[in-house]
Amino acid sequence: MDLSIVVPLFNEEESLPELCDWIHRVCTKHFFSYEVILVDDGSNDNSWQVVQQLRQENQRIKGIKFQRNYGKSAALNEGFKAAQGDVVITMDADLQDSPDEIPELRSMIIEQGYDLVSGWKKVRFDNTLTKNIPSKFFNAVTRKVSGIHLHDFNCGLKVYRKKVVKSIEVYGEMHRYIPVLAKWAGFKKIGEKIVEHRARKYGVTKFGWERFVNGFLDILSITFVGKFSKRPMHFFGLWGTLFFIIGFIIALFLIVSKFIDADTFITNRPSFYLSLTAIIIGMQLFLAGFISELIARNAPGRNNYLIEEKTGFQEK
Ligand code: UDP
Ligand code: MG
Repeated sequence: MDLSIVVPLFNEEESLPELCDWIHRVCTKHFFSYEVILVDDGSNDNSWQVVQQLRQENQRIKGIKFQRNYGKSAALNEGFKAAQGDVVITMDADLQDSPDEIPELRSMIIEQGYDLVSGWKKVRFDNTLTKNIPSKFFNAVTRKVSGIHLHDFNCGLKVYRKKVVKSIEVYGEMHRYIPVLAKWAGFKKIGEKIVEHRARKYGVTKFGWERFVNGFLDILSITFVGKFSKRPMHFFGLWGTLFFIIGFIIALFLIVSKFIDADTFITNRPSFYLSLTAIIIGMQLFLAGFISELIARNAPGRNNYLIEEKTGFQEK
């Protein structure tokens, strides 16, 4: 099979028929043998009925329905596991990504030898304040941290060599950083292509401003857990030692200054102590977060979601 198109969806009943129809037109025009894997991430509208209906009309359409809403990462991960095509494309369900990009994206894998090509929504049709500005910030930080020079890490439209999607596990909020996961897994040829971005036609966005905060924490965790997950002591041990030494020197200084009764720098500056306390509390909380993140990432249940129903897949 040439192509698997994986579409995560949460309450997108209106968009699905149009999307599937459009994908079908593009793929038949280019003679691709393809499958569309619609992953219903626990919708509470009629999305699943629509998926089943679409499957009746076109046997290339397959569906997976989650028991409840687990998030876009889980949906993509399940789609990746099921995908059979040599090239795998992910696309949002809301018609913001255009299926017309499929042939060119595919040829970047097949002909130009890319492992992963990420769409770049150079012209965006989203809210500037809640979407465009935060996303500029995150892209800049992610570029810096990961060393991958993409403009738009979070674009839903991406194409992969099959081996890439079978080598990574997308969990938590990591759907925003799949190129980073791919790089860690050892895939080097990562590119981008400017893609058309359209305004949402039906329904509403499922991600709001809280993305800003989550994205910030994600960036911290991919940086620190990525770099130090095998040896957390190398990070925390160093800072711990440093703070211990600073504390020891200050204590010594205070003892000495008490004896000579001098008007010293330190005793006159309560704000200095406050800042020191804040830094230390910050470090402690950071450490607690780091440890929890390590445990969460390595817990066997991190991608244990329940599937309610599947359509179009052979039962094993
Ligand atoms: N989505 C999902 N699970 C969720 C939230 C979103 O599968 O919990 C899907 C959603 O249906 C869409 C894609 O992820 O196909 C991108 O979501 P959305 O369009 O709301 O994000 P935006 O384009 O506003 O960034
Ligand atoms: Mg969208």
